Amino acid sequence: MLARNWFGAIGAIFSLPSYLLYCSFPMSKKLRPRKSPKKKNSAARAPLVRVHSQCLTGDVLTSLRCDCRAQLELSLRKIGQAPSGVLLYLPQEGRGIGLMNKLRAYQLQDGGMDTVEANENLGFAADARDYGFSAQILKQLGAKKIRLLSNNPEKVRQLESAGIQVIERVPCQPRVSKTSHAYLRTKKSKMGHLLEGL
Ligand SMILES: [Zn+2]
Repeated sequence: MLARNWFGAIGAIFSLPSYLLYCSFPMSKKLRPRKSPKKKNSAARAPLVRVHSQCLTGDVLTSLRCDCRAQLELSLRKIGQAPSGVLLYLPQEGRGIGLMNKLRAYQLQDGGMDTVEANENLGFAADARDYGFSAQILKQLGAKKIRLLSNNPEKVRQLESAGIQVIERVPCQPRVSKTSHAYLRTKKSKMGHLLEGL
């Protein structure tokens, strides 16, 4: 179906069993960078892509414990302003551990653990997400060369190893709230996320 995103840009939303996809126009073949020429313009022609992991507490309930909602809003705004773009919304709640386990991890964090310690205490990896399926979707869309909105080097690495050429990583760092500050510092220091000013 066609829809406007939160910031008024028109795009298409496809709801499929395992993910939600938002494409801003132009779509399809026009998502592909033109083969022509000038290197300096090739980055600008590639679609701007956000591969966003679902966060019910942040995206829907606007929790400030994490930066998910803020990143989603920033991504939709930037994709809406770009010549073309894609937002993949993936069911990887809690960095892949699911909603109930994320809430258990929140309880542990309330007791003093950081987000990485809490996930590991529950027997999970600090980040259990997999982006191989996202790479397949992008290939199906013809988006093999992309500009990726992300602060996460592991996401770039996984997409590239799955055959997607990330020709530019576009920082996706919105406001930092007092509540999310410690969480973001942990993402930077323990998970290698590229975050400024923390
Ligand atoms: Zn979140």
